[in-house]
Amino acid sequence: MSDRLAIDVEGLDKYFGKFQALNGVNLQVPRGQVHGFLGPNGAGKSTTIRVLLGLLHADAGRVRLLGGDPWRDVVELHRRLAYVPGDVSLWPSMTGGEAIDLLGSLRGGLDETRRADLVERFELDTTKRGRQYSKGNRQKVAIVAALASNVDLLILDEPTSGLDPLMEQVFQEAVAEAVARGTGVLLSSHIMSEVEALADRVSIIRDGTIVETGTLAEIRGHARNTVHVTLENVDGLESVPVLHDLEVSGSQVHATVDGDHIGEAVAALTQRGISALTIEPPSLESLFLRLYDDEPEEQQEAANGSKAGNR
Ligand code: ADP
Ligand code: MG
Repeated sequence: MSDRLAIDVEGLDKYFGKFQALNGVNLQVPRGQVHGFLGPNGAGKSTTIRVLLGLLHADAGRVRLLGGDPWRDVVELHRRLAYVPGDVSLWPSMTGGEAIDLLGSLRGGLDETRRADLVERFELDTTKRGRQYSKGNRQKVAIVAALASNVDLLILDEPTSGLDPLMEQVFQEAVAEAVARGTGVLLSSHIMSEVEALADRVSIIRDGTIVETGTLAEIRGHARNTVHVTLENVDGLESVPVLHDLEVSGSQVHATVDGDHIGEAVAALTQRGISALTIEPPSLESLFLRLYDDEPEEQQEAANGSKAGNR
């Protein structure tokens, strides 16, 4: 069994009745990497994850998890993976500490040193009962249980919903430590900064289909940089084809430029006497928004002039 890929999905289809929730999904996650899984609500992230967890049966395609079959090898695979959903429910009368121990024993066992360290860093009171925890604290219980378990794969479906920013920071550090131990991570998230901080590669899903996959650098290469420049002479900028979303006010110019056209853009600006220049790399967020625009971009620009398109 080849184990290099923690997750290996090819051509995955899933129907709910006549509704096709997943259409030819491809997803590869090597061990020792974080794979960001992004998409708007209803795109198919949780459905993909439920297939990986063996909770839903694939209608078509090849799905391999840690070299096994998530539908047939449920027991063996669940000893080697930990799952954190976005809305953790706990046993109402069990303490958080007992829940962590139980979850750990269902998996390959807990690393006690790591458990104690994580409880402290997440400032989790493990003596409260399940019913007493707030939403954020229920997430913490599940996160500590997952990260303290000796597993090869973490499947995290919006795991930090309800965590405050300090705890978000702790979460990012703890996931990075898991990755350094060789754990593979699938991280579905709507928090772009979390994905930008952690992910080696990213897949973006829309309407059940993966529309973009690659390293963060590759994905950024397809998105536009924002240019702010002060020029001595702003004449003729409209006719520079690599400048998009152009806004000129006095000597101040704002525009967007494709990653592969920055050189050309700067050359055109240099001819007009640059006195100040900043170029902001594209955020994952801006790329994300562009991918969800329904019309192809050319049509949109024709329809909207040089302004940014509608959502
Ligand atoms: P995401 O996690 O990306 O927000 P989901 O995977 O939960 O999206 O849902 C994908 C689509 O499948 C949505 O349109 C959702 O309504 C539908 N869906 C999910 N689960 C079921 C189900 N059990 N029965 C019918 N439709 C479902
Ligand atoms: Mg979901």
